[in-house]
Amino acid sequence: MLPRLASREQQAAARTNWAGNYTYNTERLDLPKTVEEVQQIVKSRSPLKALGARHSFNGVADSTGDQISLKYLDQMVVDAKSRTVAVGAGVTYGQLAPYLDGQGYALHNLASLPHISVAGACATATHGSGNRNGNLATAVSAMEIVTADGNVVVLSRERDGERFQGAVVALGGLGVVTKVTLDVQPAFQMRQVVYENLPMAQLESHLDDIFSSGYSVSLFTDWQNHRVTQVWIKSRVEPGASSKMESDFLGAKLAAKKLHPLAGHAAENCTEQMGIPGPWYERLPHFRMNFTPSSGAELQSEYFVPRDKGYEAILAVEQLRDHVTPRLLISELRTINADNLWMSPCYQRPSMAIHFTWKPEWPAVSKVLPMIEEKLAPFNAKPHWAKLFTTSASRLKSLYVKLPEYQALLGHYDPGGKFRNGFLNTNIYGG
Ligand SMILES: Cc1cc2nc3c(=O)[nH]c(=O)nc-3n(C[C@H](O)[C@H](O)[C@H](O)COP(=O)(O)OP(=O)(O)OC[C@H]3O[C@@H](n4cnc5c(N)ncnc54)[C@H](O)[C@@H]3O)c2cc1C
Repeated sequence: MLPRLASREQQAAARTNWAGNYTYNTERLDLPKTVEEVQQIVKSRSPLKALGARHSFNGVADSTGDQISLKYLDQMVVDAKSRTVAVGAGVTYGQLAPYLDGQGYALHNLASLPHISVAGACATATHGSGNRNGNLATAVSAMEIVTADGNVVVLSRERDGERFQGAVVALGGLGVVTKVTLDVQPAFQMRQVVYENLPMAQLESHLDDIFSSGYSVSLFTDWQNHRVTQVWIKSRVEPGASSKMESDFLGAKLAAKKLHPLAGHAAENCTEQMGIPGPWYERLPHFRMNFTPSSGAELQSEYFVPRDKGYEAILAVEQLRDHVTPRLLISELRTINADNLWMSPCYQRPSMAIHFTWKPEWPAVSKVLPMIEEKLAPFNAKPHWAKLFTTSASRLKSLYVKLPEYQALLGHYDPGGKFRNGFLNTNIYGG
């Protein structure tokens, strides 16, 4: 007998992504409780796609057959000797982080929200910020995957070299990941300080200083008045270091109260600010678990440009401000270190990400995206895999030098295309 399907209510809830802008084309949602059940499902269903926490904004997790949710595979085991944690593919960062902290460990970075699954975030190269911080997938040291034939394959950074670098950011195309092993480090404390109204011109000569002013730095802007509306600086609390907060940061002023990046939204939803020290996992994300992250009613897009061209790219987008701002809730600028993951937008390129949180107005937003993509084309901007973009497949092919090898890897593990979907057909196999 095949393992359980989601109840009617669960099926209904799972039919759209978190933002509600995308309705999945699936017939069924399978909810296995063991790896053996995953194997049975994989053997008997096609097409099939793993579904994480549903936070992607496009069809990357969609299927025309079944989706499979690993939410019941939620084990977490620290190995102190190898300084790693092995997590079931259903685990979210919101579950993992407090567990790790309780064991005296931390992850190197987190995204803006803890609600997403480790497997889903790593599959799409989800990132946080920090000049020296690679995206979240760079912490992956091994993965257990049920491939199309139902067999369990384990790939590790140590043993599998280039093949591993191709498998980590796989957009769900390689198979169903059942376990992810992540590097951990000793737990640390952080503090977060917010400044308001940084003149954008400061980035012309101080971009690196600004982004290295903390462990993780985020700049928010609405693209108006050549101004960064908020600067969020997340710093590690080092023993003996001063906790004094400067009142001025390159012309920006220390916020007098806790803020939400979006005007008019409750700061209660955000992690602690005002320089108050706290655990790493309650400062690295902007938004708190058990609270709505961001706006809720929104769309998102994001483009990665080379960090050393960051200011030029900002100026290019700024030229479109009268098209962008009316559709925008907020933009965010972050930096991400280079990595060697084939399908990562930061592959061998220290990057700055230009993010857009849009009002939920797709017809209008879809007209602005090609304009942004055109302006950012000279910078070889790569779109975030899990957000909304209109970049063509042929353009993606020219941007991702490892795309042919990635296609070959998918062909090796999934020769019949069981895990292919519209997203992969368009963006990876199209053009
Ligand atoms: C409010 C909000 C804030 C966000 N902030 C950030 C941010 O700060 N930084 C950033 O980079 N992104 C951000 N994102 C985007 C988000 O991180 C990505 O969409 C991420 O992929 C979501 O993970 P998920 O668990 O919801 O995966 P899903 O959206 O469910 O799936 C994503 C992909 O992962 C694959 N997948 C999931 N589980 C498995 C598995 N077990 N085996 C194989 N493949 C699997 C799916 O097939 C799919 O291809 C944000 C999104 C939202 C809604």
